[in-house]
Amino acid sequence: MDKASVLHNFIKQRGLKITKNRLMVLEYLKKNKKPMAVEDISKSLKLNIVTTYRILESFVSTGLIYQTDFRKGKSFFEFQDANHHHHHITCIKCDLREHIDFCFSAKIERDILKSTSFEKVTGHIIEFFGICSKCNK
Ligand SMILES: [Zn+2]
Ligand SMILES: [Zn+2]
Ligand SMILES: [Zn+2]
Repeated sequence: MDKASVLHNFIKQRGLKITKNRLMVLEYLKKNKKPMAVEDISKSLKLNIVTTYRILESFVSTGLIYQTDFRKGKSFFEFQDANHHHHHITCIKCDLREHIDFCFSAKIERDILKSTSFEKVTGHIIEFFGICSKCNK
């Protein structure tokens, strides 16, 4: 399957209509492989910020991308493959951000199900903050 039809499928599978702008935003997020701010996406793609935000919202609500907050008062958006679920740790001084390639939620989820009335956990957002080795000197 070529690259364009892979993107088409991602969007179609979520029940969204395929548009040129949606394809462009998805390709951009997929290529960048890191959390991106709306402002940066809109600027790089020369796409109106409201349009960009609407596209991102449609992707987030259908689970195609992941939205997170690094305590900067703005949201960041990242494409996450089903087989590459991961977390981040961000330096509170210089904003250096690294991926954490493992997840530890299975036990926590069992405890949540035991202590609440829920029967299923379908997702979670966990971000870590710290001080990188450069800033700690
Ligand atoms: Zn990431
Ligand atoms: Zn740092
Ligand atoms: Zn996780």
